[in-house]
Amino acid sequence: MKISSAEFIKGIIGTNEILEDDRPQIAFMGRSNVGKSSVINSLVNRKDLVKSGSTPGKTRQINFFLINKKVYFVDLPGYGFMKASLKERAKSKKMLLWYLFRSQINFKKVILIIDAKIGITKFDQEMLDLLDQNESSVILVANKVDKLKKNQIDKLSNIILYSAKTHHGREELLDKIFEK
Ligand code: GDP
Repeated sequence: MKISSAEFIKGIIGTNEILEDDRPQIAFMGRSNVGKSSVINSLVNRKDLVKSGSTPGKTRQINFFLINKKVYFVDLPGYGFMKASLKERAKSKKMLLWYLFRSQINFKKVILIIDAKIGITKFDQEMLDLLDQNESSVILVANKVDKLKKNQIDKLSNIILYSAKTHHGREELLDKIFEK
């Protein structure tokens, strides 16, 4: 799948007409610092279309990027950011759950990104269970796989091994994203 265009459309904090748009939405989620911004940037081959999630205040909204004028990549707030206050964290979580389970979106796929070295955290697992209960279509991506040794990599299965740094797994993930 060739990415020919990628543009930032808007950031939202609550209900908005973009949620009723007919175009498919591919939502990216994951713990803060897993490299969510880097993964999206590597997919669209842009250095900083998405600003790094570790910049405070940058991820408190849900950001929409239109890809090839056809689908939205949706950057959801990162969770578990240590430097954020409890109140801020609760707000991000609420927004995440609202987007995933309560907003009216015609079609969506969820890409849950984990750190290949850290694995699935407790909160990741909670999210996976909720997504499963809601029969959401989920693609699990292990980023930063460039940090692993081969025997560590062999233990991971049923998961897309990715590196935003080396672009390892890019074609595989794009195919999954755009497959019907
Ligand atoms: P976000 O908070 O999830 O949006 O994470 P960022 O995209 O800001 O990345 C967090 C940190 O991880 C940055 O220092 C990145 O350079 C680094 N990083 C992201 N992806 C990779 C990767 O595939 N490999 C390595 N080694 N580092 C990465």
